[in-house]
Amino acid sequence: MLEITDLRAGYGKLEVLHDVNLSFQANLFTAVLGPNGSGKSTLLKSIFGITHIFSGSIQLDQNELVGLRTEALQRHRIAYVPQRANVFAAMSVKDNLLLGLRQSSRAERRERLSEAYELFPILGKREGQQAGQLSGGERQMVAMAIAWLMQPRVLLLDEPSAGLAPVVVKDVFQTLQTLRDSGVTLVVVEQNARSVLRWCDYVYVMREGRLVFSGTAEACLADEEMVKSYLGVGMPQPVNRRPIVQSDD
Ligand code: ADP
Ligand code: MG
Repeated sequence: MLEITDLRAGYGKLEVLHDVNLSFQANLFTAVLGPNGSGKSTLLKSIFGITHIFSGSIQLDQNELVGLRTEALQRHRIAYVPQRANVFAAMSVKDNLLLGLRQSSRAERRERLSEAYELFPILGKREGQQAGQLSGGERQMVAMAIAWLMQPRVLLLDEPSAGLAPVVVKDVFQTLQTLRDSGVTLVVVEQNARSVLRWCDYVYVMREGRLVFSGTAEACLADEEMVKSYLGVGMPQPVNRRPIVQSDD
């Protein structure tokens, strides 16, 4: 469980996130939505330790993450897939994937690579190609696969569906549901609320650095104001949603 309490964070002297409280449960696909500039990317960067934290806490299973360096965060098995520049364009798909396996033995690398190709079948077919020559969706799969190979407990993804064709978006979100089912705590930032709301379990909506909604994807869709503000017209049909069990604490 990843718990963010009274977080104020930003860049230099600029505070972008104001008193944000959120929690992310393992086994749930949680989406963070909101218009452009609302602080979604800043939230992910704060969890990953690359913003200025003014105050508040970010805890993973009661361990404080604020103040930890990247290597320490990686030891906590937190992986971050930024929106852009998330693969090495001049390297082959396979060499990109091997970046996620730097700590592994040769035999382990071979085994984990073949697991990655099972989870991301397209990558097996593209193994020898330069990542820069792939389609946007394939590149997104490479970035997700590198992160997955690090065996993250928390996976942070910034707009994984941005710029992708609808059929590819479906592949990406379907793969994210598979990761969710394997126990990864998924934090997915999206501006394209309409499509992610079909796939995610839990939703936070941000606006101008503050949280304006939290609840299940169903509750979000049932909130007409929310639908009007963030989805436009038309309700998506949910796919393979998890029932939410609320804990008492
Ligand atoms: P979103 O991802 O929701 O579109 P961001 O978190 O990227 O929003 O941005 C939130 C606010 O923080 C915006 O006003 C943006 O201009 C500002 N901001 C983002 N990155 C930086 C940065 N590196 N330095 C200064 N301000 C930034
Ligand atoms: Mg952003």
